[in-house]
Amino acid sequence: MNRISETTDIPVGISACVLGEEVRFNGGHSQSRICQNQLAKHFKFQSFCPEVAAGFGIPRPTMRLTGDPANPKLIFSRPPSEKSQEQAEKDQQQDSDNDSESLLMQDLGKKLTDACQPMLNRCEQLDGFILKKDSPSCGMERVKIYQPSGHPHEERGAGLFARALMERFPNLPIEEDGRLNDAQLRENFVMRVFAHHNFRTEVAGQASFHNLLQFHSSYKYLLMAHNQTAYRELGKMLAVAHKEPLDALIKTYHQQFMSAINTPASRGSHCNVMQHIMGYLKQSVDSTARQHILSVFEQYRLGEVNLITPMTLLSHYINQNGSEYIRAQRYLEPYPSHLGLRNLV
Ligand code: SF4
Repeated sequence: MNRISETTDIPVGISACVLGEEVRFNGGHSQSRICQNQLAKHFKFQSFCPEVAAGFGIPRPTMRLTGDPANPKLIFSRPPSEKSQEQAEKDQQQDSDNDSESLLMQDLGKKLTDACQPMLNRCEQLDGFILKKDSPSCGMERVKIYQPSGHPHEERGAGLFARALMERFPNLPIEEDGRLNDAQLRENFVMRVFAHHNFRTEVAGQASFHNLLQFHSSYKYLLMAHNQTAYRELGKMLAVAHKEPLDALIKTYHQQFMSAINTPASRGSHCNVMQHIMGYLKQSVDSTARQHILSVFEQYRLGEVNLITPMTLLSHYINQNGSEYIRAQRYLEPYPSHLGLRNLV
């Protein structure tokens, strides 16, 4: 088992416009530089545009969610015959005013979600998904849902594709393009994608109790940093689980593991974990060096330096003096270090 996932082709889904494809209602795109320049080095993106898959065309009128926030409809914000002069000419005035009016009110949700099924079936083999924010099809959260009056409800929701994706794959790391601009959320998302990939290939793809134990062992300190309670509960679960049906055990473990690492770890809990790891260096690092390392942990806890500083120092000593067990901890390098994600958190 490698400490670092060396692979450069982790399959991750992405809203096509975020990847730079000109599929938006106006024929434009919403390319994310972070996805294009940084994440594409390790993610093999599989792009998808639900609205194009549903045959709504490019360009097309804007769409919106409307009605009951628990079960909204997807409608055109204005009739397709008002798409654009060019498009209107192409349509050769096929739509009468009445047709346009009925199209304006038509719920296109089923057409869209039906068209998403083939992509949803492929998502079984993905390790993450990056969605376009605010879209009535792709938005992960806070998408406006309109009332008949034309004003949005206070309650916001998810776009229809995003909702179907999250319901079917609750353990899949999913993030929006806008939120990836936040260094902490970006670091957490990439870490979860690598963890999901490692689980899918090392445990789900080669199901055995031994592989599950090995996976758990390699993620011990990363789990501790994110959620001490979940770390203890997962350990207890595995300690008594050897007689349980393996499929059910793997499914429960995966769900609880992904949920435990879902939120970024605090500086305090990183410090706590780094101090635990220091325990492995008691015999091999003299007290002056130990005091120095601990003072750098404190600088990190106070926000004076970012995570990369104490981690570089700690990894240096662990690589020189640590046991095989501690050197195999994914916490030390949960994703390739050249992504630079720990420089900013
Ligand atoms: S947000 Fe989704 S539906 Fe809209 S253009 Fe982008 S990929 Fe297509």
